[in-house]
Amino acid sequence: MRFQATHDILTTLWNRGVIVNLLGRELARSRRERVSTSILMCDLDHFKSVNDNYGHLAGDDILKETAKRLLASVRSYDFVGRYGGEEFLVVLNNCNPAYAFARAEEIRKGIAQRPMPSSSGPVSITMSLGLLLSQEWGCRPVEDLLQEADAPLYAAKAAGRNCVKVASPKVSSFDSNSQALEPVRLGR
Ligand code: GH3
Ligand code: MG
Ligand code: MG
Repeated sequence: MRFQATHDILTTLWNRGVIVNLLGRELARSRRERVSTSILMCDLDHFKSVNDNYGHLAGDDILKETAKRLLASVRSYDFVGRYGGEEFLVVLNNCNPAYAFARAEEIRKGIAQRPMPSSSGPVSITMSLGLLLSQEWGCRPVEDLLQEADAPLYAAKAAGRNCVKVASPKVSSFDSNSQALEPVRLGR
């Protein structure tokens, strides 16, 4: 009963409520400790066509395999949750912004590198990812940051999918009232 309340039954990942809660707690901790949390909004590409071409059960197999590969690509203290149908939220804890993009790329490659097994045979799948580095956004509520992480995900879709894009604050997020650190810029 407890497992069902906290986990997504199909993939056994954290469910949406729990992963958002874990992210909120991690953001609070990272602000206290002046480290960075990376938020990755991940969405499988053209998943509707996968269901249409291979069937819904094969689609379910692919969601399960995606969960396995996501877990295999992160460290034991990172968080992975199923955010929606074919959307996943990955929280890289205490992740130096300079490494976050490389970590996101590893996750992307982990999905794309080889076809996924399914009840209808192997299926090639790709994933688009939107990355947000908490240090660049100051003290913003978790819901705000999740909404902001949508923009780079849409940008990744628009750029042709199977890629990672990074959220850029419109104005400097440096908030002198918060414990935010100097933003660390990635080349992009
Ligand atoms: P895009 O690359 O733009 O993300 O395209 P998409 O086809 O992945 O996006 P869209 O939102 O059009 O379709 C998402 C699909 O995911 C449609 C829905 O049937 C499927 N889906 C959502 N949850 C599940 C599930 O639990 N099992 C299966 N098999 N399919 C699911
Ligand atoms: Mg999709
Ligand atoms: Mg989607």
